[in-house]
Amino acid sequence: MSHDANCIFCKIVAGQIPSKKVYEDEDVLAFHDIHPWAPVHILIIPKRHITSMVDVGLEDQALLGRMMAVSPRLMAELGVTNGYRHVVNTGRDGMQEVMHLHLHVMGGPRPWAKG
Ligand code: 5GP
Ligand code: ZN
Repeated sequence: MSHDANCIFCKIVAGQIPSKKVYEDEDVLAFHDIHPWAPVHILIIPKRHITSMVDVGLEDQALLGRMMAVSPRLMAELGVTNGYRHVVNTGRDGMQEVMHLHLHVMGGPRPWAKG
C-alpha cells in the first residue's frame, strides 16, 4: 500500500492536513512536529505509507538513508548548531503513536520537554 486513506501522515503528504513543511523531494517529506519536545523538532517521513520500522527491508535502504542524510542540512537551515537527536519509535512497546514511519530529529538549547 502506498497511501492509507486513514493515515494522518498520508493525509499530510497529500496536502489534506496542513503542516509546516521544511523539506520535500520525490520520496521524502519533512515538517515540524505539532507538539515539539525540543526547540527544533521535525519529523522526516517517507511519502509512501510504511507503517513502522517493522515493515522495512533491505529494499528500503536508499529511502531510509535519504531520511537520515537530509537531516544535517535541515537542522543547519533551522539554526541548530550544537547537535541533535534522531529517534524512531517502533510499535506499541516502542511507544509509536502515529503508524506511519517517521524519524524524529530534535535539537536546540535545553531544557527540552522530553528526553
Ligand atoms: P510517535 O510517538 O509516533 O513516534 O510520534 C508521533 C509524533 O507525531 C508526535 O511527536 C506528535 O506530536 C506528532 N504528530 C501527531 N499528529 C500530528 C499532526 O497532525 N501534525 C504534525 N505536524 N505532527 C503530528
Ligand atoms: Zn501513512
